[in-house]
Amino acid sequence: TDAYIAQAEKTRSLNAFITETFDKARDEAKASDARRAAGNAGAMDGIPVGIKDLFCTEGTLTTAASHILDGFVPQYESTVSGKLKAAGVVSLGKLNLDEFAMGGANLHSYYGPARNPWDPTLVPGGSSGGSAAAVSARAVMAATGTDTGGSIRQPGAYCGIVGLKPTYGRCSRWGIVAFASSLDQAGPMARTVEDAAIMLGSMAGFDPKDSTSANVAVPDFAKALTGDIRGLKVGVPKEYRVDGMNPEIVALWDKGVEWLKAAGAEVVEISLPHTKHALATYYVIAPAEASSNLARYDGVRYGLRVPGETLDDMYELTRAAGFGREVKRRILIGTYVLSAGYYDAYYLKAQRVRALVAQDFTEAFKKVDVILTPTAPTPAFSIEGAPEDPVAMYLNDVFTVPASLAGIPGINVPAGLSSGGLPLGLQILGRPFDEETVIRAAGVME
Ligand code: GLN
Repeated sequence: TDAYIAQAEKTRSLNAFITETFDKARDEAKASDARRAAGNAGAMDGIPVGIKDLFCTEGTLTTAASHILDGFVPQYESTVSGKLKAAGVVSLGKLNLDEFAMGGANLHSYYGPARNPWDPTLVPGGSSGGSAAAVSARAVMAATGTDTGGSIRQPGAYCGIVGLKPTYGRCSRWGIVAFASSLDQAGPMARTVEDAAIMLGSMAGFDPKDSTSANVAVPDFAKALTGDIRGLKVGVPKEYRVDGMNPEIVALWDKGVEWLKAAGAEVVEISLPHTKHALATYYVIAPAEASSNLARYDGVRYGLRVPGETLDDMYELTRAAGFGREVKRRILIGTYVLSAGYYDAYYLKAQRVRALVAQDFTEAFKKVDVILTPTAPTPAFSIEGAPEDPVAMYLNDVFTVPASLAGIPGINVPAGLSSGGLPLGLQILGRPFDEETVIRAAGVME
């Protein structure tokens, strides 16, 4: 713990932490030593981790990287961070992210951008950018992330670490600040597939407090790392070979195919015909749900309050001052697509297309066990030169959102470096609740 705290202090310029809890961590480490000495250590006892600042943590400031949650100290612990505590982890603090997890570059944080340890002029990805940066910089051994449309996998790719988005329902959402409830899923971010597998085991499990939590057994995920993928059927979806794709990403993908073949897998081309509609579908559904979830920030119950003449004034002033630009944009899009005149044309249509995207995967998984794709269309880009145009930013999510819409598990595996020396990642997707096969295949790619 001392070594990781020292490294976290040394890498402060990355702005990976919103709240540091180093003193508390030292106490937790001592308690962990005592548990170890007494022979009752948990599965992750004494492991220094960071918690994305979207998880409510009892007694510790929780901001969601938003001004509107100023001073919000929860009186309760999210199920997932609570489970990690029960497994013995030592938390070094709360990690930076895009405000309410809306973004893919960590540029939309009220607390300023987190930076990529490979090159601090670059973004770490998002929304779990602080988590990816902290793990990659060795400031924590592992971190929690959340993934609504790629926020675990894409920052994993940009920072050269493993990020695992489990099946929707695998980890409880209870106590996680909600972005888009039908998509949000917590997962581990770590240096190796094995670490991620172990951590997932400590995060997952049925929770009656989350109505979408799945009542399925939690296997020993690390046991899936047999190193043996002989006979495994791997699908390569032709629709992911998008026009004008970065040739380095194409080459990486081809290399991934070769690795899996060399390890005895059978690689076949598959079709996911509705892929081209996934991004637009996601950017209707996610803002719709966000606009509803964010209605609770009214200046009465949480954080910031800007007083006004009337109650309505207070609501308006608080929300105007409390939300950042991207969050406001999404609330506007969300309320628009849900409004009486447009509901059928946008929201309902998006729900239908979502079902088609999910069906594509169901069909594909009748033929293959896992699917291999790139995680992101480019390596990390510069903070200064990040696209101003929100749609250009949204395009970075093209490979990650389909799996989110379908609720299936996906992992980013660091797979090599770009010609500029930046990490690139490949994504492996699997059947619902078959994280084990995803982990097994990922283990071979490492
Ligand atoms: N980049 C996507 C978005 O902006 C995904 C975010 C996420 O997964 N939380 O919505």
